[in-house]
Amino acid sequence: MEKNKAINEVFEIPVAERRFVDEKNLKFKRKIIFLSPFLIFFFSFMGLLLKNNFEINNFTIGKSDSRILGHLPYEETSKEELVFIEPNIWVHKDMSQSLIRMRQDAKREGVDLVFLSGYRSIKLQKDIFYSLKSIRNQDASERARVSAPPGYSEHSTGFAIDIGDANYREADFEVEFENTAAFRWLKLNAAKYHFKLSFNKNNEHIDYEPWHWRYEGSIEALKVFETANRDLQNISK
Ligand SMILES: [Zn+2]
Repeated sequence: MEKNKAINEVFEIPVAERRFVDEKNLKFKRKIIFLSPFLIFFFSFMGLLLKNNFEINNFTIGKSDSRILGHLPYEETSKEELVFIEPNIWVHKDMSQSLIRMRQDAKREGVDLVFLSGYRSIKLQKDIFYSLKSIRNQDASERARVSAPPGYSEHSTGFAIDIGDANYREADFEVEFENTAAFRWLKLNAAKYHFKLSFNKNNEHIDYEPWHWRYEGSIEALKVFETANRDLQNISK
């Protein structure tokens, strides 16, 4: 009897403990089973919310947040990426050959393209933006319609070029440029050289700039203008 008791005690203790653990586990499991539909619903809902938020941030709010007066931010390309074309005109090495070829081909067809402005440092863009702003007595948002704030110009990437018509210099940087032979030729041919008009007539923040073209013929350039192109798709939808 004594012996049995002793045996029982030996066995009961671990059994009792195990049962206790099991019950605890069972309760926990029951709770989980009971709560699981709610948990599944909760996490799906949160997931969906996060996903939507992410998309909203990426495609609408994010973009408008990173914009200043309608302009997207652009980093300044490093000097090593730049190639000299002619005095005062430096462009990204990816686009230099295509740009020169475009001018040569236009010339062959009797159209004289003039390069007005290529790469501009953020410092130069700052001078342009603030000096012209004060000269013309415009506030920043008015100024931004015709010139990008520093840090927000496609010119700082080295992938943008302003083009004029050698036989009609009065139209340089003017909407009137669209009536020149140079613009008509560019409209028909620029895409062959991977150039695209950056600011067309549909842009609600930035005025139409028929002279301003950007290069999209390399992966590097496409990466730089990815947001701008995505935005354009959204506008046209
Ligand atoms: Zn420009």
